[in-house]
Amino acid sequence: MALVVQKFGGSSVKNAARVMEAARKAIRAKHDGHQVMVVVSAQGSTTDDLIAKAHEISTTPSAREMDMLLATGEQISIALTAMAIQELGEKAISLTGPQIGIVTDSTHRKARIKKIDTSRLSQALETGHIVVLAGFQGTDELDDITTLGRGGSDTTAVAVAAAMKQAGYDVQCEIFTDVDGVYTTDPRIVPDARKMDAISYDEMLEMASMGAGVMHSRSIEFAKKYDVPLMVRNAQSDAVGTWIVPEAEWMTEIPVCGVALAYDEARLSLEGVPDRPGVSHQVFSALASANIAVDMIAQSVGSGGKATIGFTVMNTDREKTIKTLQPIVAELGATLREMGKVSKVSVVGAGMRTVSGVAERMFRSLAAEKVNLKMITTGDIKISVLIEEEELGEDAMKDPGGEPIKKAHLEARKAVRGRQALRAVHSAFGLSQPRKGAGKAVGDFLRRPVPLVPPTAVDRASAVARLDGMEDILVSGVHLNNDQSRITITNLPDLPGNCATVFTAIAEAGILVDMIVQNMTGPNRAELSFTVPRSDLAPALKLANAVVKSIDPACLAVGDDQIAVLYVLGVGMRTHTGVAKTMFGALAARGINIAMINTSEVCLGVVVDRARGAEALACLKTAFELTS
Ligand code: ADP
Ligand code: ASP
Ligand code: MG
Repeated sequence: MALVVQKFGGSSVKNAARVMEAARKAIRAKHDGHQVMVVVSAQGSTTDDLIAKAHEISTTPSAREMDMLLATGEQISIALTAMAIQELGEKAISLTGPQIGIVTDSTHRKARIKKIDTSRLSQALETGHIVVLAGFQGTDELDDITTLGRGGSDTTAVAVAAAMKQAGYDVQCEIFTDVDGVYTTDPRIVPDARKMDAISYDEMLEMASMGAGVMHSRSIEFAKKYDVPLMVRNAQSDAVGTWIVPEAEWMTEIPVCGVALAYDEARLSLEGVPDRPGVSHQVFSALASANIAVDMIAQSVGSGGKATIGFTVMNTDREKTIKTLQPIVAELGATLREMGKVSKVSVVGAGMRTVSGVAERMFRSLAAEKVNLKMITTGDIKISVLIEEEELGEDAMKDPGGEPIKKAHLEARKAVRGRQALRAVHSAFGLSQPRKGAGKAVGDFLRRPVPLVPPTAVDRASAVARLDGMEDILVSGVHLNNDQSRITITNLPDLPGNCATVFTAIAEAGILVDMIVQNMTGPNRAELSFTVPRSDLAPALKLANAVVKSIDPACLAVGDDQIAVLYVLGVGMRTHTGVAKTMFGALAARGINIAMINTSEVCLGVVVDRARGAEALACLKTAFELTS
């Protein structure tokens, strides 16, 4: 007998008929001999409607009262679902987050789970009840109601599954939704997207964090940290869905497993920043202290000792970001600029750790669509590009009638250029072709002799055991790589196709590119930096100079073989703002300058001066309390 945790999303409980279907699924699992817990979201568009109601009263409602309001949505669903199960003849009990003791911190609207008391859940299960639990909510230490952030019911389900596993139950977790599983990209935007058989925790974490709304990314952090196998499947069928599981060998045979689109980010640029150690720390630690997660970060050196720092944050954090940075901007004598509407397209795949040529293929497909890349950043298993969007009228947001459409889906329609780019990239990697796991096998890509970063994090289990709160940051290792060099191209005209031209030349020479950062440095000019193996620096530099001179004689490629790359490995590293803060803080305290930054959920990479590499490694190990 196992404990089956089933989660039903908003569309899967949107009306009485769907609630009855969910109840039948839970009862079936019980009749199969399992103990059953059901986690439910608010019905249909309830949460959107509640937010709209609050905005009828106030444009800036307090976060505490919003949580009080939003938590009611899930309370309706649990009562109805428990009634449905009882109506079908089984014992059921509904419980709210506060009732069972899901304790969170006090960050209203994006609270993190600290601990879950499993005693009431066990009691109800042992007396034969199907336990119906409200997703998305908890209470802080003052007994105030908190919510976990939009889409947070997934996180409740996996966190509860993890807590029950720790309490000794043999747990399985199923996420029921309105699609058949995790697809190579959003099937609503790219109709020939394919359902995957399985995806690794790291890939799903990256996909979700890069915009694949099918799972709340924080739920995957729990799954990876506590080893909870998940299946995403359709609430309206019995079809086998997609397993989200630890990485298997075959997954790394695919350079790219999926593509994601995000259209809810704002791009800001700090210009005229003094180029000295500690400035990044000042900027990003201020944002981290305000609990703002920064996504893409691109610093460029510029001229006259002044640097430009470009970065993106969620649109919902835009105003808070501007306010937080105002005093720093004034102190640094810099300027804060905002770019208009942007979309971000990312490719994700565990195979990228060992395979090269992905950037070149991605940029070439975007160049063919005349898509201009305003910013590029990489992580160890993803590449993201930022695209300028067209400004559309409000008509694009009108509901065409019929079935109510999720607000997120309506929003996605505005990302016209992003959707076009998403389709182009999806097709460039052959993701609609059938094969096990979906995606294109390695074939014509280059293979790295050794992965730059070991795919498995060191000693994760013992790191988890040391955590105070369930959702605390998990940093499990720091590595130093002294075998890389950097090439920086300045004055690159900001036109479609230029990045593709550069990386095609490098890829044709069989040279493996690792980190890539591109940022705008002025009107119509960009700076592009990337790392290559030290032994390939001379030929790569020669090629880069030849190719950029043919683009524009004002362009220049310069090489630097005096760099070291440091990687900090863990889980949920980008969204836990504390990681960047600790890293920047520790390096700034030693006066170590950060020349390049690479962020992802599972790995933060920084380029520093080669002479300071060993010292930086030691100081990061101390900062993250790592012994090995
Ligand atoms: P729920 O209400 O069940 O939590 P969500 O709307 O949060 O459902 O998630 C399901 C939706 O996620 C799908 O309808 C689909 O449009 C969207 N989606 C985005 N990316 C993907 C992807 N890669 N695979 C599957 N669905 C995706
Ligand atoms: N009801 C919440 C939301 O709409 C949580 C969830 O559905 O996961 O964001
Ligand atoms: Mg969801």
